[in-house]
Amino acid sequence: MITEVSEKELMLQREYIAKVKEINSKLSEIPLAHVHSFGCQQNVSDGEKIKGMLALMGYGFTRETENADLILFNTCAVRENAEDRVFGNVGALKKLKENNRNLIIAVGGCMVQQEHIAAKMRKSFPQVDIIFGTHVMHNLPQMIYEKLADRKRTLSIPECDGVIAEGLPVIRESKVKASVPIMYGCNNFCTYCIVPFVRGRERSRKPEDVFAEVEGLVKDNYKEILLLGQNVNSYGKEYGVSFSELLRRLDSIEGDFKISFMTSHPKDCTEELIDTIADSRHISYHLHLPVQSGSDRILKEMNRHYNRERYLKLVEYAKKRIPDVALTTDIIVGFPGETYEDFKETVELMKTVQYDSAYTFIYSRREGTKAAAMPDPVTDEEKGVWFRELLEVQNAIGEKAYERFIGKTVRVLCEGIGRTADGLMTGHSRHGVIVDFNGTMDMIGQYVNVKITKSCPWAVVGELVGDTD
Ligand code: SF4
Repeated sequence: MITEVSEKELMLQREYIAKVKEINSKLSEIPLAHVHSFGCQQNVSDGEKIKGMLALMGYGFTRETENADLILFNTCAVRENAEDRVFGNVGALKKLKENNRNLIIAVGGCMVQQEHIAAKMRKSFPQVDIIFGTHVMHNLPQMIYEKLADRKRTLSIPECDGVIAEGLPVIRESKVKASVPIMYGCNNFCTYCIVPFVRGRERSRKPEDVFAEVEGLVKDNYKEILLLGQNVNSYGKEYGVSFSELLRRLDSIEGDFKISFMTSHPKDCTEELIDTIADSRHISYHLHLPVQSGSDRILKEMNRHYNRERYLKLVEYAKKRIPDVALTTDIIVGFPGETYEDFKETVELMKTVQYDSAYTFIYSRREGTKAAAMPDPVTDEEKGVWFRELLEVQNAIGEKAYERFIGKTVRVLCEGIGRTADGLMTGHSRHGVIVDFNGTMDMIGQYVNVKITKSCPWAVVGELVGDTD
């Protein structure tokens, strides 16, 4: 069941926005907020909404914590080291709080949605004023008002299956690229993953809401739209509109823009989706398909609901249908119970697929997940050796992967100054590949045609030309 935040509740929050704004307007200087989002694109997107609400409350923004009146960390729970970083960063704010009793410190997001973390944050970090979970982000105006009005600490971590709050204000990080969440939460319960516990059950935004937002962004001259969801392939079950259908509707919007999306779960990725990409006008020729392991035994232990054969069939179909398709993946090394033989199957799969790039991680134990209780006899040291072996294999593949673009002309969204050599501009092609070329600053935010002359492990280089192939 989808719980959409009611108009009445949102109205109440708008009232709190006005109250905070009034308090802030009486200050001699505009108060400054420092907002930092850790982790995935979804968190970055949430951070943009948080900034949107803060701007309406009269806050300006600062990149520094030292001159901020409000510091907000929007946290991530996917890996233990990300949590350690947040604890370190919050700990470092103690001095600032001692020097400025009016400073408000807020910590929100996935990490504190976990009960034991919220309890630790409350007990060990008294400098934190507001602790809020993923399901109450839209109530931030009320929490800030209550802090300003009565100086009390707030802990708001409701247990629920998740909500959708439409119409929150947004301050986007970029003027050319925009993220659009199309769904929230996840039902898959991969045994290593904390996301279903902290982001709630799967729920999709209405197709007409997504369409209206994307259409508005294209009208506002945004050139790249990134559709977000933990598993975009299972979008729209509540509305009888599949992800492929949503993509086709968005692809019908007139304009010069690209649509990309993440993340695709291989179990729900279909030939229909691949056909939709292949036949589209605007959709990126890039498929990020997280395989996680090449061993059927480990995939089963991970509760991934596909096997190596099905995965490779999808890859084969994508290579057949989508011109020069860019394939990327996520891989976990050292899942509990994984043997060197299992790991070798992952290496072999990597060689078979020939990914453009791979995000490889050593397994990170997450309390509360099934995998956390599984025997894990392989030492961290050994996992490190496997990890480096995998990286070497992927680096060798990556060195040659982009050679297939040499001699071809591609459309590139110019985004800024390049890194491969002085005087070059940079952008991404329809395949999501970084392209450096001899452009000029006035091209930023525009599509240009570039003939590829050289490939590097993580980018290609080319020259401006008139027409695409
Ligand atoms: S699909 Fe699996 S890995 Fe991805 S968010 Fe859901 S549970 Fe986590």
